[in-house]
Amino acid sequence: MPAHRVIILGGGFGGLYAARALRRAPVHVTLIDRRNFHLFQPLLYQVATGSLSPGEICAPLRSILWRQANTQVLLGEAADIDPHARTIQLRDGGVFPYDSLIVATGSESFYFGNDQWCQWAPSLKSVEEATAIRHKILFAFEAAERLTDSELRRQWMTFVIIGGGTTGVELAGALGEIAAFTLKHEFRSIDPHTARILILDGSNHVLPTFPEDLGRHTVEALARLGVEVRTGVKVVNVDGDGVTLENEHQEMERLATKTVLWAGGVHGGGFGRVLAERTGITRDRGGHIPVEPDLTIPGFPEIFVVGDLATRPGPDGKPLPGVAQVAMQGGAFAARVIAARANGQTAHIGPFRYADRGDIAVIGRAAAVARIFGVHLHGLIAWLVWLFIHLMYLVQFQSRVLVFIQWGFQYLTFSRGARLITGASITEAPEVSASVHSAKR
Ligand SMILES: Cc1cc2nc3c(=O)[nH]c(=O)nc-3n(C[C@H](O)[C@H](O)[C@H](O)COP(=O)(O)OP(=O)(O)OC[C@H]3O[C@@H](n4cnc5c(N)ncnc54)[C@H](O)[C@@H]3O)c2cc1C
Repeated sequence: MPAHRVIILGGGFGGLYAARALRRAPVHVTLIDRRNFHLFQPLLYQVATGSLSPGEICAPLRSILWRQANTQVLLGEAADIDPHARTIQLRDGGVFPYDSLIVATGSESFYFGNDQWCQWAPSLKSVEEATAIRHKILFAFEAAERLTDSELRRQWMTFVIIGGGTTGVELAGALGEIAAFTLKHEFRSIDPHTARILILDGSNHVLPTFPEDLGRHTVEALARLGVEVRTGVKVVNVDGDGVTLENEHQEMERLATKTVLWAGGVHGGGFGRVLAERTGITRDRGGHIPVEPDLTIPGFPEIFVVGDLATRPGPDGKPLPGVAQVAMQGGAFAARVIAARANGQTAHIGPFRYADRGDIAVIGRAAAVARIFGVHLHGLIAWLVWLFIHLMYLVQFQSRVLVFIQWGFQYLTFSRGARLITGASITEAPEVSASVHSAKR
């Protein structure tokens, strides 16, 4: 009998954990990703703020899975699916048949219908975006150092982060530390500590998925780093010179800034759109694919959707959150069902039950908030838990050692070793040259 063919689309948390869970199953696994590496997204903000280099949070998929004899890794982008013929078509035209399919292609940044903002407010979803943000942040201090006009300088030294979820809080905390400690002695014309850092969020408190008391601790810890948190505000426009918002008093307000970072939300787009069309599924408002209790698509028991792209109500009736644990557990669950079927087991497995171990967000050095198995922690203890969890889940042992050394060094010296401005240079960024020239005149 030819082996049962399993295709996994996406080598993120969902896809990778599914592939690993199939290592002993009597199946042939083909994992297809448009990137040749697994990206540890929870530490992307550390690349964006110069703490870590991209290589330290990425691991080549081939090297992760080379020991797994039943698994082949292919580089390619899934572009289409024929769910009746059971084939996947790649963008380059390659066609791959499957007996079971796991779709784990994740989510995309979502600008709430204002895609034009992305040119001014990059989001944090890929290595390229992280290095673009790093460029933007470090460049802002460089530009301010060269300017003499105090208003322009103020504009360059103002950093606005849109979105007060985990990513927004972590970015703001790291920026606060850069301004207060890392760059403290390095400039001559400016005092980096005077940088203004704001988080804007439409809801009533930051970290809306965390318990309220942890949200309060977060605001206090951010304030100690000089970060202003403004909740209950609505961003109505973003352009090259700043952000317009409807403030807490329903008045229009303008924040002049050259650095806006988007941590506003994600949407289940990309391949999910095609999958929904071909299978006749209606996606939810967030672009997610609603799945059955066994994570399959209604009417297609051989197609599983896991991770950020899928939506499924949790025990409280609310959709499960778009976090790594949901993706990993979903991937492993789908693999278990497929392995059981390939082994000829007829007993029904499921439904998928998410084991919620909690939430954790880091604000800065020795400052974090965590809800672990229902216990609320903050400060140093939460930070130590955060360090441990993140090191444990980094995929490769080598990355764990490298990141541990980097963090130890940073803790002792406040330094950030990966503060490289890469990409377009000062002369290639017209708005910067314009500001600098106008200051000279
Ligand atoms: C900045 C940031 C910080 C985060 N912090 C945390 C945190 O602290 N804790 C937490 O639990 N979660 C966090 N998350 C969320 C977590 O990373 C996601 O929930 C998780 O990555 C979802 O896993 P996934 O497998 O569904 O998708 P992903 O991990 O996004 O993987 C999707 C994969 O599919 C590939 N792909 C996409 N489209 C195609 C295609 N058409 N063809 C082939 N391959 C394709 C991509 O290249 C990618 O490798 C964070 C996310 C971000 C962006």
